[in-house]
Amino acid sequence: MTAEPMTSATVPDYGEGTLPDLATSLLASLGVDDAPNPLGLVQARRACLLIVDGLGWELLRAHQAAAPFLSELTNTGRALTAGFPATTVTSLTSLGTGLPPGRHGMLGYQVAVPGRDRLLNGLRWDDQVDPVSWQPAPTIYQRAAAADIAAYRVAARGLEKTGFSLAAMRGATYRPADSLGALVAQASWALAGSDRALVTVYHADLDGTGHVFGSQSEAWSYQLAHVDKLAEQLASSLPSGTALYVTADHGMVDAGPDDRIDVDLVPGLRDGVALLGGEPRARHVYAVPGAASDVLATWQGVLGSRAWVASRDEAIEAGWFGPVDERFVPRIGDVVAAPAGSWALIATKAEPLESSLAGMHGSLTPSDQFVPLLSVTSI
Ligand SMILES: [Zn+2]
Repeated sequence: MTAEPMTSATVPDYGEGTLPDLATSLLASLGVDDAPNPLGLVQARRACLLIVDGLGWELLRAHQAAAPFLSELTNTGRALTAGFPATTVTSLTSLGTGLPPGRHGMLGYQVAVPGRDRLLNGLRWDDQVDPVSWQPAPTIYQRAAAADIAAYRVAARGLEKTGFSLAAMRGATYRPADSLGALVAQASWALAGSDRALVTVYHADLDGTGHVFGSQSEAWSYQLAHVDKLAEQLASSLPSGTALYVTADHGMVDAGPDDRIDVDLVPGLRDGVALLGGEPRARHVYAVPGAASDVLATWQGVLGSRAWVASRDEAIEAGWFGPVDERFVPRIGDVVAAPAGSWALIATKAEPLESSLAGMHGSLTPSDQFVPLLSVTSI
């Protein structure tokens, strides 16, 4: 690891203020025994968690005019760290299980399937990987239901039965909603129909807009205004005895044309590499047998202070993934690379689509890591 950037990496503070801590605190606030409440959430009969994909804390603070409702809530809210990698697959599983990445095993956008010469794309999934075996821990929905708390997910219809959904968020009653208005209506229906309820609402379009246009674009600001209205409508539709929380799975960084390092073109970066996993701002690099130390030396030498580059053991030791279960260790790259600043480790041959995106996320900078925790309570 290079000394300079390591000192300023935003390593998630697991156990104190991360997304898995929010998940267990939510259960605790609803009265689930044995769930810790490190965030000190107030007791409530019903809790609704709005997850806005890609709504970074820093981005929200920088766009107050576009989001007056959410910005007002930041005065009493706080930032959480997402977890590493700061990506949807990992963060939604942290929220879905209350476990840090090293304990739930969903360790990135693309990770190696141990024993097979292939990557698992966590969003697209793979029929040959059983979601429940891959992520065996119970979800917060299952734990809520076991405590006689009605558990609902409200999100787009197409996300209901994916492998990722089964791995990360199984056990909820699903209420499909393909528009902003439908999200509010379905959530308020689920909340009002149960004496005790846990309802999560997920919206993806802000992240999608940021990926294509960048988080500094007009398109992103316009989309944020719709998200602001979504949150405002949800807040005003809460039945009494309900706490609404707003959070996100990660922030975003715009990688300019000069910030892109092409792993497929820069000499040396593919040498000894069997599989290139992760994504441009969080790389798992899987070496061919015997080549791990050479790959580490090359990546550190080529990237210098442009990325935090660690061996698997160093990344675990530094706490990037939280405590790591032994069985999940082989899913982590022999080398893990997290770009500093707005650098991106693109791969134009292997990943032409992902490499073309304007906005990206995953790393250990405040822009990737910090997400809001905002609350509105109608007790
Ligand atoms: Zn994304």
